[in-house]
Amino acid sequence: MLRVRGLSKRFGPVRALTGVDLEVQPGEVVALLGPSGCGKSTLLRCVDGLEAPDEGEVEIAGVVLREARSDELPLLRRRVGFVFQGSHLLRRLTAEQNVAIGLVAAGQPTHQALAVARAALERVGMGWAAGRRPEELSGGERQRVAIARALVGEPLLMLWDEPTASLDPVVVHEILKLMEGLVAESDRAMLLVTHQVGFARQVAHRLVFMEAGRVVESGPPEEVLAAPRSQVARRYQMLLG
Ligand code: ATP
Ligand code: MG
Repeated sequence: MLRVRGLSKRFGPVRALTGVDLEVQPGEVVALLGPSGCGKSTLLRCVDGLEAPDEGEVEIAGVVLREARSDELPLLRRRVGFVFQGSHLLRRLTAEQNVAIGLVAAGQPTHQALAVARAALERVGMGWAAGRRPEELSGGERQRVAIARALVGEPLLMLWDEPTASLDPVVVHEILKLMEGLVAESDRAMLLVTHQVGFARQVAHRLVFMEAGRVVESGPPEEVLAAPRSQVARRYQMLLG
């Protein structure tokens, strides 16, 4: 589903990613763990095409991003859903408009896109908020709308970048439940950055540990946490007690 090969990215003197290889199979849930600044968000942003790597390539569903024709890109983008830390909703738009906007941009008639958007909002328990603007919603509710927005294109791959950061514990629990449901319901591939190690261990098929822009270890949760080889994995093992 996703194949990342030899990805490197520099920001001036900072080497954010160095030779990262990563594969995510259809239906596979992979959690990306590592200390702040190790390159997790940069990796997701390269996968989504928000950031262009200096070296290496990203292949989604058999298409290399860099080589994708301009007419392939919108479809490819719809196939990848991205949920950011903080919801990144557009303030002037209602929840349903926020969810529908990608479909409209991809050429769907507005009334049709809005109907699909409302259905996506229903799926995350936010049907009631279709007409509300982000400022009229709580942080957790906004995050649900953002999840609906990511789901609306029926993505084959979902990218999550700390979707529960800065939410209160009860809401974190609700969002994690929602994500768990999404994992169970389909064979969508997921690449998830989270500091919720317990959750990662529970839902991920594989944990990938990063340090200073490199992947240092990867494997099934029980395996890598039972016998961690890298410093980073050992730290997470201790966190879990
Ligand atoms: P966190 O867990 O804190 O979110 P992260 O693993 O997501 O960290 P990144 O955001 O990918 O880390 O950042 C990796 C490195 O690249 C950091 O040193 C960061 O300061 C740097 N960096 C990221 N984006 C930019 C940018 N747009 N301009 C300059 N430096 C950047
Ligand atoms: Mg980050």
